[in-house]
Amino acid sequence: MQPIDVLKKFYGYDSFRGQQESVIRQVIEKKDCIALMPTGAGKSVCYQVPAMVLPGLTLVISPLIALMKDQVDALNEIGIPAAFLNSTMDISEQRYVSDQAMKGGIKLLYVAPERLFSGTHPLVNALKEMNLSLVAVDEAHCVSQWGHDFRPEYLKLGALRKAFPDTPFLALTATADKQTRKDISARLHLNKPEWFISSFDRPNITYRVTLRSDGFGKLVDFLQHRPNDAGIVYCLSRKSVENTAAKLNANGFSALPYHAGLSKENRQENQEKFIKDEVKIIVATIAFGMGIDKSNVRFVVHTNMPQNIESYYQETGRAGRDGLPGEALLFYSLGDSITLKRMIESADNEEYVRHMKAKMDTMVAFCQTKSCRRKYLLGYFGEKYSQDCGNCDVCFQKNNKSDMTIFSQMLLSAVVRLGQQFGLGHVILVLRGSQSAKVTNAQKELSVYGIGKDRSDDFWKRLGFQLIAEGYLLQEDPQRPILKLSDLAWEKLKRKEKFLLAMEEEVFNLREPSN
Ligand code: ADP
Ligand code: ZN
Repeated sequence: MQPIDVLKKFYGYDSFRGQQESVIRQVIEKKDCIALMPTGAGKSVCYQVPAMVLPGLTLVISPLIALMKDQVDALNEIGIPAAFLNSTMDISEQRYVSDQAMKGGIKLLYVAPERLFSGTHPLVNALKEMNLSLVAVDEAHCVSQWGHDFRPEYLKLGALRKAFPDTPFLALTATADKQTRKDISARLHLNKPEWFISSFDRPNITYRVTLRSDGFGKLVDFLQHRPNDAGIVYCLSRKSVENTAAKLNANGFSALPYHAGLSKENRQENQEKFIKDEVKIIVATIAFGMGIDKSNVRFVVHTNMPQNIESYYQETGRAGRDGLPGEALLFYSLGDSITLKRMIESADNEEYVRHMKAKMDTMVAFCQTKSCRRKYLLGYFGEKYSQDCGNCDVCFQKNNKSDMTIFSQMLLSAVVRLGQQFGLGHVILVLRGSQSAKVTNAQKELSVYGIGKDRSDDFWKRLGFQLIAEGYLLQEDPQRPILKLSDLAWEKLKRKEKFLLAMEEEVFNLREPSN
C-alpha cells in the first residue's frame, strides 16, 4: 500500500500535513531521519504510516509508559495491529506479545527504553528474530543531558543502533535547542540523518505574560470571559493544584485536579472527564498533558513561571491543536525564580545545575521582555521571525499606550515621600487615603495622602506594574519588594517628559466569549 492510501484508509485523513510526507518517504527508503516538529504537528503519523507500508515490525521507543496503553488502544481501534511491552505486565503477557511480534502478528511494538537492555530477558536479543523494519525514537530530546528532560536510559539507544546497523532510525521531538539537536544525532549514532525541522510557530496561539499580583482574581476574570472553553491550569505543586481547584469550584467553575498524589483511578477518571468535555478545566502539575490528544484545548494557564522555555513551549503547545485560536497565559512573580533555583540546586551535578540555571534565566528574560513574545520564542529555537506577530500581549500593548503622566507622577512621588521604604500595596493605601492601621499618622500628614482616591485599587496596581515593567520603579529584593525610583524615572521627571504606558486594562476580555 502507498503511504497516502494508509492515511486515508486507517486514519480517514485526506492528505498529509506539513513535512509528514517527506519524512515518511525518507524513512521508507531506509534513511535515518530526525524530525523536529511542534506538538500537534502529527509526529505519530510519521512512523505509524511507514509501519503499515514496510514489511516487518516498527519498534517505537517511548518514555511514557503511562500513555502506551492509550496509544496502542487507539491504533487497534483504527485497525492497526499494535502492542506494548512494559514492566507492569507479567511474564506470560510479555511472552505473548513477543511471540506475536516474532510471528508478524503486530506492526508496531511500543517499549520503554529500559526494557531493551535490562531484566532477565532483555528485549534486544528477541528483536533479532522480529524482522525489524524501523525504529522510531519518540521524545528523542530525552537523550540529551542538556535537555530539560534527560533520561539516562536513552543513552543506551546508541547500543541498539549498533545492534541494528541496517535498520532505519527515526528520532522525533517537539523541543530541541541547538545543543540538544547535536546530541540527538551523536548519541543515537545516526547515520548521516536527514533533518526535518518544521517551523515551531503556532500562529493560532496568543501569548500573554503578566505579574502574579492578585493572580487568582485575574485567573477568575480570565476564565469568566471564556465560560465555554476547555483549558488546563498548571500549578507548581500538588498542594497548589488542590487549592486552586477547590477555589475555582467555590467560585462557580467546574474544575478537577490532576497530580501524581492522586490514585491512578482518580487521575484517569479526571483525565477522561476533561477529554470528553464533561469538565472544562483541569488544574494540574506538569505531569498532566504528556501525549494527551485533546485537540480543542482553548487555553493553557501557568500560575507559576516554568523552569525553562522548552517546558513552557511544550506545555502551551497543548492549546489550539485543532488550529482554532488558542491562548497561553503565564503568571509570574520575581519570587518564582528563587523557588525554581532552589529546586534546580537540589541536583548534585554542578555543571548540570549551572546549565539549568542559565536556561531559567532565559525564561525570566522571556517574562520580562518588552519585545514580541513570539519573536523571542522562535529566536530561542533558532528560527528567524522578522516582523512582530501582532498576537501577543507585547504586540497588543505596543500600539495601545495611554498618557499616564499625571497618575505616574502621583505614584512616583508617593514612593519618594514614603522614603522609598515601602512596597506597592502600602504606597497605594497612602495614595487612596486609607484609614487602615497600617498607615501611620505621620503618613496621613503627607501631601500625597489621599490624592489618588478617585481611582481604584486595581487601577493603581496596574499602573504600578507598568512602571515596574518599563523600568521606572525598581523592586530589587524579591523577598522584600520595596519600591525605588530608577535613574530613568528621575531623568524623566526632571525633563518633564510624558509617561506613555501600556495599561493592561483589557487583557482578559480581548476575546468575545465563544459559545
Ligand atoms: P504530535 O505527536 O506531533 O504532538 P500527534 O501525532 O498526536 O501530534 O497528532 C496531533 C493530531 O493531529 C492528532 O489528532 C492526529 O490524528 C492529527 N493528525 C495527524 N496527521 C494529520 C493529517 N495529515 N491530517 C489531519 N490530522 C492529522
Ligand atoms: Zn508579538
